[in-house]
Amino acid sequence: MKEFSYIIREKDIDQADGGFYDVLIIGGGITGAGIANILSKNGISAILVEKSDFGSGTSQGSSKLIHGGLRYLQEREFRLVRELLKERNYILSNVRDSKKIKFNILIGESTWKRSTIRTGLFLYNLLGGKLKIPKFHENGGKYPSDFKGYFEYEDGWCDDSRLVIYNIVTAHENGAICMNYSEFKSVEKAGEHYLSSIYDSIGKRSIRVRSRMIINCAGPWAETIAKMTNTESSLPFKLSKGVHIAVSRSKFPMDSGIAFMSQIDRRQMFIIPAGEVLIIGTTDNLVENPNDFEPSMDDIDYIIRSAKQVIPDLDQKDILTSYAGIRPLIGDADDPGKIPRDFVIKTDGYVINVFGGKLTNYRAASRKVAKIVSMKFGLRFHIKGMPEISYQRPESAERFVNEIRYECAVFPEDILRRREAFRIYREDLGKSEEKAVNSAFREIKK
Ligand SMILES: Cc1cc2nc3c(=O)[nH]c(=O)nc-3n(C[C@H](O)[C@H](O)[C@H](O)COP(=O)(O)OP(=O)(O)OC[C@H]3O[C@@H](n4cnc5c(N)ncnc54)[C@H](O)[C@@H]3O)c2cc1C
Repeated sequence: MKEFSYIIREKDIDQADGGFYDVLIIGGGITGAGIANILSKNGISAILVEKSDFGSGTSQGSSKLIHGGLRYLQEREFRLVRELLKERNYILSNVRDSKKIKFNILIGESTWKRSTIRTGLFLYNLLGGKLKIPKFHENGGKYPSDFKGYFEYEDGWCDDSRLVIYNIVTAHENGAICMNYSEFKSVEKAGEHYLSSIYDSIGKRSIRVRSRMIINCAGPWAETIAKMTNTESSLPFKLSKGVHIAVSRSKFPMDSGIAFMSQIDRRQMFIIPAGEVLIIGTTDNLVENPNDFEPSMDDIDYIIRSAKQVIPDLDQKDILTSYAGIRPLIGDADDPGKIPRDFVIKTDGYVINVFGGKLTNYRAASRKVAKIVSMKFGLRFHIKGMPEISYQRPESAERFVNEIRYECAVFPEDILRRREAFRIYREDLGKSEEKAVNSAFREIKK
């Protein structure tokens, strides 16, 4: 296994200063990580810069579902759902920490119609490669009596930040330079190339990197970066905040996830068992600021009031933690729920801007970008079936040490919130692990 620690990070930054690369990738969320992975595998010299930790933007704030998006069928997004389901099936077969998860869709008097869900699920299964007639199950006291019963279906689940880390470490193993805590600050044209200024917030120094191409994968910050590279498109870029809360799993013991309709505004919502908690969400409200990652009291109140239909005694005091993600969306609709969730790629000279997208279809976005890069550089790439994840984290007692040594965790929070995500999945929010994580840092610094 190739070392990828904070010591390597420092060496990489020294080496990158004044260096020349084929591509500079801005943003170490799932989109940037997948693109760094596929390009480096094809022999492109790639440098990825992430202003905070890898996977610390929207890619740590999702519902963590690897899914086709059943509700997108309502919007007649058949092509998108088919692509997402294909990607879901790939991830479930190939990514170690991903798993199948059963969902119950709850049906009552004022929810979706039975016939709508039956048809939708039939189509969903079919697009996912399964011929299966959905069966309606009577409630039988499993859920509050307002619900007549439920349909069952299966989707996928994977921790979002973990998926990012797998791709980042694979890209690193392929030869890409991936630097967390390194912010893209400005760029100027230097002849045919781009000269970018990057700020290392740990070493508190600026470096200059020259590249033939820039790929903007900054998620909710993508419009800001497009402006900085003078490639601002006229696309209707919008941001929508989605909040989740986590409560103890003992609040409503269940093995399946639940999909239900909020009686406040008839939106689809989920209750997802994960580790020791139930994750409940989400909201979908337009915001102006890409840094607006704080769940508001209104968001939390909406989630609690909606979920009370399923867990009647759910209360604010049950909340262990909450988190938010910001969806970058491209669309005109005033209701963000009506804006398509597919990615949009805009190329302007040698700058590629990637807007929007889903966690589930990051591989499809990576392949599309790789195709553009291969055409721009006049090269032939191996794209089909890519990107793959070659890195598997070692299963050993030294787990945290490994995450520092091989996954470039720089601070304890990088482990507690992302590489392990105890801050969400544990009832004690990872407090009982803090000592062990801190001592792993001490051990490695010896
Ligand atoms: C509430 C919610 C629920 C969701 N649920 C699902 C789901 O269940 N399944 C699914 O498939 N998708 C889901 N999504 C969508 C999915 O989370 C996103 O599509 C995906 O995470 C976007 O990844 P990204 O890499 O494009 O953006 P991000 O993860 O935000 O990455 C962009 C990165 O760019 C960095 N950056 C910004 N500016 C700079 C700079 N100047 N220099 C260096 N770095 C910079 C940021 O720090 C950030 O890490 C959900 C989204 C939300 C908000």
